Amino acid sequence: ITFEETGLSPEVLKAINELGYVNPTPIQERTIPELKDGTNDVVALAQTGTGKTAAFGLPIIESVECKNKKVQVLVLCPTRELALQITKDLVAYSKYIQGLYVTAVYGGADIGKQIRELKKGSQIVVGTPGRVNDLCKRGVLQLGGLRYLVLDEADEMLNMGFKDELDSIISNTPDDRQSLLFSATMPKEIENMSNRYLTNPVEIKV
Ligand code: AMP
Repeated sequence: ITFEETGLSPEVLKAINELGYVNPTPIQERTIPELKDGTNDVVALAQTGTGKTAAFGLPIIESVECKNKKVQVLVLCPTRELALQITKDLVAYSKYIQGLYVTAVYGGADIGKQIRELKKGSQIVVGTPGRVNDLCKRGVLQLGGLRYLVLDEADEMLNMGFKDELDSIISNTPDDRQSLLFSATMPKEIENMSNRYLTNPVEIKV
């Protein structure tokens, strides 16, 4: 199928067309309809390089309410590099969406600068669990209006010992959020995590 057939908005189609994306990858073909539909949680077994950032990013950015400056989307990932890459991709995909702001937050960098950026009002926050949890505890990052939670490279986040931070962060989010979990491997711990944070997820393997 082509991207036109996925039902993505003209603004998003224009941006990805400029990036040279013609056909959705298998993970995108499976994930985009679930998110456009807006109801199901998703657990996806997917490696890096499969196009998973666009799989969740494209449908999510077009359902953000730009007039609402609360955090509506939280993407948690294991490393600063990945947080920056995801942020860069989401900014590129939302090139033609006015008033949508994406902020990256991660450890090992000046927290003051990240706090100032968050205070300007970003609808999408991408971050590593330690720093996100810290910002939640300080009350700077408020997740009461969250609509989408994305756990990217969930197996890596567990391997890095972020379980407690994830529990603490997710406890601040509304129960009616839509949650997506991406992982390259599905050990028992990821199944447990999926059972804890997701509700009747659709399972996608590519
Ligand atoms: P990811 O798995 O999200 O790290 O994406 C891997 C790479 O594939 C990135 O460089 C994306 O820009 C690129 N990409 C993602 N989706 C598509 C697509 N549908 N067509 C062409 N390239 C894509």
